[in-house]
Amino acid sequence: MNEKISIPTDSEGYYSLECPYCGERFKSLGGDIDSEDTLELFCPSCGLVDESNSFVSQDVIEHAQTLAINHLKQQLNKTFKNTNRNMKGSGISFDFKEMKEEQPKELKEDEQLDQIELHCCEKTIKVHADQTRETIYCPFCGVN
Ligand SMILES: [Zn+2]
Ligand SMILES: [Zn+2]
Repeated sequence: MNEKISIPTDSEGYYSLECPYCGERFKSLGGDIDSEDTLELFCPSCGLVDESNSFVSQDVIEHAQTLAINHLKQQLNKTFKNTNRNMKGSGISFDFKEMKEEQPKELKEDEQLDQIELHCCEKTIKVHADQTRETIYCPFCGVN
């Protein structure tokens, strides 16, 4: 099975990201993060760099994992149901309890983030309002 798990974005198409070093949360447009040019990201707050995958927040990973597990359970439920049906009349039956799907973890989208434009890369990100524009590092090129 090779299902692509899509990372949920907010209503404006922003991914929630979290710095693996300082834990600062910020958002960037899905298309910018998915871009093949974006292999590494700089934290807008501490300026440290890591693989873009490392910036996916734990909540989002858990959410995506739950979706993946639910998908797997659906597949298994279907397989078991079919098997039971196929064995009807053969005298063999097995007890199968349907697996319950889990409720994916709610993703917080209520964070107060300010949208800022990065003129160096002509991209837009969202950061906490208490981060002033002068101290923000560009996540894409690291310019302060
Ligand atoms: Zn950081
Ligand atoms: Zn830049």
